[in-house]
Amino acid sequence: MIKPKQVPMREQDPKERIHNFDEVPYGYTPEEAMEEASRCLQCKNPPCIKACPVGIDIPGFIRKIREGDFRGAIATIKESNLLPAICGRVCPQETQCQGACVLGRKYEPVAIGRLERFAADWELEHGVELPEVGEPTGFKVAVVGSGPAGLACAADLRRMGHQVTIFEALHEPGGVLMYGIPEFRLPKRIVKAEVENLKRLGVEIVLDVVIGKTMTIDDLFEAGYDAVFVGTGAGLPRFLGIPGEGLVGVYSANEFLTRVNLMRAYRFPEYDTPIKVGKRVAVIGGGNVAMDAARTALRLGAERVLVLYRRTEKEMPARLEEIQHAKEEGVEFEFLSAPLRFLGKDGHLTGIECIRMRLGEPDESGRRRPIPIEGSNFTIPTDTAIIAVGNRPHPLVPRTTSGLRVSPRGTIVADEEGRTSREGVFAGGDIVTGAATVISAMGAGRRAAKAIDRYLREKYGGKAPEV
Ligand SMILES: Cc1cc2nc3c(=O)[nH]c(=O)nc-3n(C[C@H](O)[C@H](O)[C@H](O)COP(=O)(O)OP(=O)(O)OC[C@H]3O[C@@H](n4cnc5c(N)ncnc54)[C@H](O)[C@@H]3O)c2cc1C
Repeated sequence: MIKPKQVPMREQDPKERIHNFDEVPYGYTPEEAMEEASRCLQCKNPPCIKACPVGIDIPGFIRKIREGDFRGAIATIKESNLLPAICGRVCPQETQCQGACVLGRKYEPVAIGRLERFAADWELEHGVELPEVGEPTGFKVAVVGSGPAGLACAADLRRMGHQVTIFEALHEPGGVLMYGIPEFRLPKRIVKAEVENLKRLGVEIVLDVVIGKTMTIDDLFEAGYDAVFVGTGAGLPRFLGIPGEGLVGVYSANEFLTRVNLMRAYRFPEYDTPIKVGKRVAVIGGGNVAMDAARTALRLGAERVLVLYRRTEKEMPARLEEIQHAKEEGVEFEFLSAPLRFLGKDGHLTGIECIRMRLGEPDESGRRRPIPIEGSNFTIPTDTAIIAVGNRPHPLVPRTTSGLRVSPRGTIVADEEGRTSREGVFAGGDIVTGAATVISAMGAGRRAAKAIDRYLREKYGGKAPEV
């Protein structure tokens, strides 16, 4: 008899967790994981695999968990996903694998993300078996950016025997995984463990190098690199362009989260970077970034955190679990509302003038377009406002690289395998798609690694050029 409900995952009590940055869910025990795995129907034609952006053999790894073969389970996952401890925690499973689960038509779908996380955590605890590195090819590849796209591309290229160097602008590798997603959702020790494994494979990581400023892509070729992968993400915040955005107390979510996650402002003065949130915080937006900012503000001591979103809860792009967690923690929501201007006194934010919205016809994103309701203005008093309405790519690399085609949205134009208009330059992740997901960035990095390998072998007949 299949159990209709998922095995619940134990979590920190909301009343306690809003006072710390520790991870919220504890993860499954081996017994819980095996029990949840036994709910999988082992479909002959599994739709979950098709719904996974990297096509993980989901029934295959779940069967191994059910049989207690945890090492086998993680090996199956890693055939397609190099970052399972991360993806198990942050993938939007409800719209991907779990959304397609056949069991979900009648009961709760199999908790695929939790099982993926279990297998990956089990491996981290019991020792990671590093993959073999191929015979040295003599080729050198530069990877720009150390987010999931860059990390995955570097790992695969290294396994193929190439010499790989990652150039990262920040002082810590990991991209959004380090500076954006908070500790209580993705502990940094997990990202660090992945980076360490990469180093053990022989990938070199050079930090504090801004490609386009410290050196250009042309400089990389001149320095002897045979190909370059660009995985610089979409880390530039969008603003609202409304009056008062320059007032003290108005942050972009990027700045707010970077101060806290990367610069550890929540441990000021032990760390140098301060952060001020005040008593009342308003977060503008409805995605994961908005949820992360709201829940972080609570943990920094805000008494009231209000999320302003211009559509309804149904259209919110954030992961379901993040919305649920935010609600449990006391985050409040003002749906169908948008800010018109920030109000201030002596240069400091004091409130936001907003307007109510109604939903009209669907727009190009497929979601119903919000339309302002005339005369419905209202004011929210607030000490801090955090703008989380999206990100776009930084133009530095595209601007300083000749022959690189860029779309009107500022993304680098690349084909499915990451090939750009400039020979030898490949790109993938958010810099190509615009802000997307960890798993899609990782998948793009892997596809580009294959294409780079093929390019090098075809161009030089399998032999590195003499330097
Ligand atoms: C707060 C937040 C929460 C999110 N939550 C989720 C989630 O729950 N689930 C999910 O799937 N996705 C989530 N995302 C989206 C996801 O993190 C991104 O889609 C993903 O990280 C993109 O990977 P990437 O490798 O393309 O780029 P990034 O992770 O952005 O990494 C790019 C790296 O390149 C570096 N770089 C940039 N320019 C240069 C340069 N000129 N020279 C050298 N280095 C450079 C950057 O410093 C950065 O380290 C979230 C994003 C944010 C901001």
